Amino acid sequence: MMPFNKELLTKATEIIGGEDAVKLVEAIRSLGETTDDKIAIETGMRLNNVRKILYRLSNYSIVSSTRSRDPESGWFIFKWRLQPDQIEGYVQNVKKRILEKLKTRLKYEEDHEFYSCSNPSCKRVVFEDAMELIFHCPECRQPLKHFDKGKTVEILRKRIEELKNESGE
Ligand SMILES: [Zn+2]
Repeated sequence: MMPFNKELLTKATEIIGGEDAVKLVEAIRSLGETTDDKIAIETGMRLNNVRKILYRLSNYSIVSSTRSRDPESGWFIFKWRLQPDQIEGYVQNVKKRILEKLKTRLKYEEDHEFYSCSNPSCKRVVFEDAMELIFHCPECRQPLKHFDKGKTVEILRKRIEELKNESGE
């Protein structure tokens, strides 16, 4: 198991479930293995909301539950606990998804030529569209000039390299 990284856990939790999820994780950390109704009491959150977030977090393996039968009532009891050893895997997954997106974006940049007016609030236009527009910006009607994508491509390549290094690819 990797060393417990509180900051990483909080960040991942917030992305997945927002502030309520962070509160919930804090509660489980202080209570230890616990039930949803105890978490609801600890956080002051509604039980339905607590359950919703617990299932969401369990989909990402941030929390896990064990099921047992209450000997008195015969009902199932779910006990929840943190699974911080899974966080690193989650972060790696997110990084992988970002990497894929960046690669797609880079390919798009490499495969196209772009044209733009000098207006920073207008969007770039790909060559084929620029031709159809007779090289005039569809938004401000200013003439379109060839857009130097060199910087964008460079930034994308650099970020892709960084992510690949971080993931040990
Ligand atoms: Zn324009």
